[in-house]
Amino acid sequence: MTDVEGAFRAAFQAPPEFIVRAPGRVNLLGEHVDYNDGWVLPAAIDRAAYLAARAAPEPVVSLAAPDLEASAAFRLSELDAEDDPAAGANPRLDAIGRPLARWAWYPAGVAWALRRHGLRVVGLEAALTSTVPRGAGLSSSAAVEVAFAAAWQRLGGWELPPLELARLCQRAENRYVGVASGLMDQFASICGRAGHALLLDCRTLDWQPVPLPAGVSIVVADSGVRREIARSEYNTRRAQCQVALAGLRQAMGNPGLRALRDVSVEDFNRYAPALDPLVARRARHVVEECARTRAAAGLLRAGRVADFGALMNECHASLRDMYEVSCLELDALAEAAQRIEGCFGARLTGAGFGGCTVNLVAAATAEDFRRDLSRAYQEATGRQAAIWVCQAADGAAVLQPGG
Ligand code: ADP
Ligand code: MG
Repeated sequence: MTDVEGAFRAAFQAPPEFIVRAPGRVNLLGEHVDYNDGWVLPAAIDRAAYLAARAAPEPVVSLAAPDLEASAAFRLSELDAEDDPAAGANPRLDAIGRPLARWAWYPAGVAWALRRHGLRVVGLEAALTSTVPRGAGLSSSAAVEVAFAAAWQRLGGWELPPLELARLCQRAENRYVGVASGLMDQFASICGRAGHALLLDCRTLDWQPVPLPAGVSIVVADSGVRREIARSEYNTRRAQCQVALAGLRQAMGNPGLRALRDVSVEDFNRYAPALDPLVARRARHVVEECARTRAAAGLLRAGRVADFGALMNECHASLRDMYEVSCLELDALAEAAQRIEGCFGARLTGAGFGGCTVNLVAAATAEDFRRDLSRAYQEATGRQAAIWVCQAADGAAVLQPGG
């Protein structure tokens, strides 16, 4: 753990009342299906945001973020002005009327969403540190949101069901920060369980923990590549899924068909020729990925980790060839990993066009894997990958200082 307690003492010359730990996450399977009502299989990881906090007498939130060498403060009363802050013209303001630093929009957004839900949000002094790399796709942002939500829950005298708390954090990110994202990240950070992945049905929000076999590590490899087109391509893929759905409604004579997740692989094979070939490739990824993710959860429960890994490899091929969201660097990382002894499966994760791969690796070989993958990636691309060996971890929790 980072020294968040020391950071709090340095900033506020007093000990914190408590510390919250809220983890990042990685998705093992179920990519680009959340917006098609599909199934996802994330795990919370043993990298987390840490928040040391105590209640403040005034309705002001004072923050120290030593990772960014920054501090900020905002008034809770400033937050109620707007219905949809990300869409509005008003700048988000700090406690003395200057523009609020962007990193502080995450906690401000959480306070905004909680207050709009009618929940008591108290003034706070807080120090924030994190071992989740920022902007790498491990959802450092959700970890920050969930840490603050848990702190305000603890101090506010109310308690929400985990998925409702996750939804309010998601609303903070969508509507206050202005980043469109699904519920998976906040869900995983709240509901994570050590040694388990979490199978979430994105329509019903039913979920179950799925045990990961002992002796496997989740390894995340960051290609170091970020491409601007990822956002517009993401929107294009979403639109193509809607076009496919409309086409299948017609071809299947089923106007009530709700989402691609409701189409079986057999039905899809029968009716896909009615679709534009490009749209059909996009939809094939979604339909098969839904089937893969549900099958994969069963394989994990049965301890069949090699078969599970084979589905991760299939997922990568599908994202590369059908959904076309991979790139040279991600292909190099996934293909190199799949050749390394002890690697069960490797695939790109996240929106694509850069970012990370997720790998399932025998824990005993994880350090060798890290070294071999790093070398192979550098040879193939001339680039340096950042590689993190992780374990599936528990969701957010309040800890006592010094504990
Ligand atoms: P990701 O969630 O993939 O890591 P995002 O761009 O969604 O990337 O979120 C990263 C942002 O979250 C950072 O730019 C910062 O605003 C905020 N954040 C994450 N970690 C910290 C931290 N330790 N201290 C302050 N802000 C943080
Ligand atoms: Mg994020």
